[in-house]
Amino acid sequence: MDASHAPVHRRHALRAGAAAAVALTAGCQERDPGTPAATATRTVAAKPAATAAGAHAPAPAPHRFPGQPVQVTNGPRDRARVALTFHGQGDPAVARTVLGEAERAGARATVLAVGSWLDEHPGMARRILDGGHDLGNHTQHHIDISALDETRAYAEITGCAQRLRRLTGSIGTWFRPSRTQYATPLVQRLAARAGYPHVLSYDVDSLDFTSPGAAAVTRKVAGEIRNGSVVSLHFGYADTVAALPLLLTEIDRRGLRAVTTTELLT
Ligand SMILES: [Zn+2]
Repeated sequence: MDASHAPVHRRHALRAGAAAAVALTAGCQERDPGTPAATATRTVAAKPAATAAGAHAPAPAPHRFPGQPVQVTNGPRDRARVALTFHGQGDPAVARTVLGEAERAGARATVLAVGSWLDEHPGMARRILDGGHDLGNHTQHHIDISALDETRAYAEITGCAQRLRRLTGSIGTWFRPSRTQYATPLVQRLAARAGYPHVLSYDVDSLDFTSPGAAAVTRKVAGEIRNGSVVSLHFGYADTVAALPLLLTEIDRRGLRAVTTTELLT
């Protein structure tokens, strides 16, 4: 955690309570809305994929980007492009609103989908791809992957990969670890074994999951975003929906373009 953000963290922690304070030890560690941790590992029977291969060409596969580290935190700093990346979980109506807002502004996003979310809302995989966005893997249950042993961590990665393959014909272009900004060396190795040459981190944390208000989300991102930034955002939070038009306007005003992470690195 960057020490310069400590006051912001403290203020948010006071507002958001003890659970969020724990979550703020690193990015993307929010508790799944409405999913108590105790039930997070229950098995959800996957619904059959009505739109699987056949009706559509397979979605893009993971890409190896020569010259990029295994753990990608940002793209080139000499091009005026950024990637907005979303934790893919929560109310699908909110997710559709966010995607629609981005598309109306000519922006493209990267959605890292949680496997159990795809089980509940299988149509979201196609919706994301049809909007021209990147779709990736954010583990099956979004539990703290850094704390799992090798077998369980691998199952979290492959569980989501299997859902993605069944729904889209591909394991998705990216893997992002759950409840941590950075993958451990073990998780990096397991992701590679599962077919992902890179793991996707980020360099700008919007902190939208702490519900600090749309203005605070916009201010935080606007203050840190620059060429090549990868921004962490979340579906499922009202502040994100409210902040997005402001953020997209700010991105445009700065002469930046919001592209998929694949485009950012290509
Ligand atoms: Zn997440």
